[in-house]
Amino acid sequence: MKAAKCIAPRQIRIVDVDKPAPKPDQALIRVCSVGICGSDLHYFEGSGIGEVTVTEPLILGHEFSGIIEEVGDEAGADLVGNLVAVEPGIPCRQCESCRTGHYNVCRDMVFPGGPPYDGVLCEYVTFPADFCFPVPQKLSPTQAALIEPLAVALHTVDLARVRPGETAAILGLGPVGLLTAQMAKLAGAGQLIGTDLLDYRAEAGLRFGVDFAFNAGKHDTVETVLDRTGGRGVDVAFDCARSSDTPGLACKVVRPAGRCVLTGISGAIEDPFPVNVARHKELTLHWCRRFRFDFPRAIAVAASGQADLKALATHSFPLERSQEAFALVSNAGDNVLKASIDL
Ligand SMILES: [Zn+2]
Ligand SMILES: [Zn+2]
Repeated sequence: MKAAKCIAPRQIRIVDVDKPAPKPDQALIRVCSVGICGSDLHYFEGSGIGEVTVTEPLILGHEFSGIIEEVGDEAGADLVGNLVAVEPGIPCRQCESCRTGHYNVCRDMVFPGGPPYDGVLCEYVTFPADFCFPVPQKLSPTQAALIEPLAVALHTVDLARVRPGETAAILGLGPVGLLTAQMAKLAGAGQLIGTDLLDYRAEAGLRFGVDFAFNAGKHDTVETVLDRTGGRGVDVAFDCARSSDTPGLACKVVRPAGRCVLTGISGAIEDPFPVNVARHKELTLHWCRRFRFDFPRAIAVAASGQADLKALATHSFPLERSQEAFALVSNAGDNVLKASIDL
């Protein structure tokens, strides 16, 4: 079968690899759509995430949907033929984290498209059947692939414990930031302020529930947010950017005793942090690691139309043009929000 393999920084080649066979508890999935995520870009660009870098050629991709063609003996045969959104990280299910409900931080997690594990930019993959979630017919394969970033946004908003009427700032209006805005509104947030370094993404924020958006490269983030909130700061700040600056900015734009949820991945091992600001304001900081138990709810929200996955999916490419798709997202070309590879 065909696969798109990253063989060097910014170089993806179509190669032939063996088609996998499902183990007893697994489903064989014909991949339909793979979204390109900001975290994939760290590997595509060759910089890596923290200490994790690409040292061997790697198949990228983890946000995906597909049709189940076959299941192993221990998996439910009724799954066959379904379009499914697949929760990509496979935990060990035995360690303390897994046994206490925090399987998203399992140390033995197998995550596709994160070195050393090959991702899903290929024709067929196998996954545990219980991590495959059938989606209703009204969702297209491309939208079903976006259940994954939507699950990240739901987990992000959950961690903030947003209450009705609270104000929030969203730093970074890529797909996760935009969906976080939409989910924060759904959770009852009042005024939402959004920032990005790209004008078109700030504008996109306004279509995803952000009330006031600005370009953080042109206006001072802290001054502008304080100004919009009468000097008080927001109740909650979400960092959804790929930046080493935004964790610190989040601390500076929240009110005293406010909450910051840090979901964006700068890729650095360490980022500078205004510890004095955080201590003075007695802030609550919560890092977000992907999601846990969020796929069924993400599917329900998407099916109800409360998450606008259709507006997010701006670009589609065939597998053969994966290189072009990654370059487009990496360069933020053509006003791209989410690009997907559709097989
Ligand atoms: Zn992702
Ligand atoms: Zn575990």
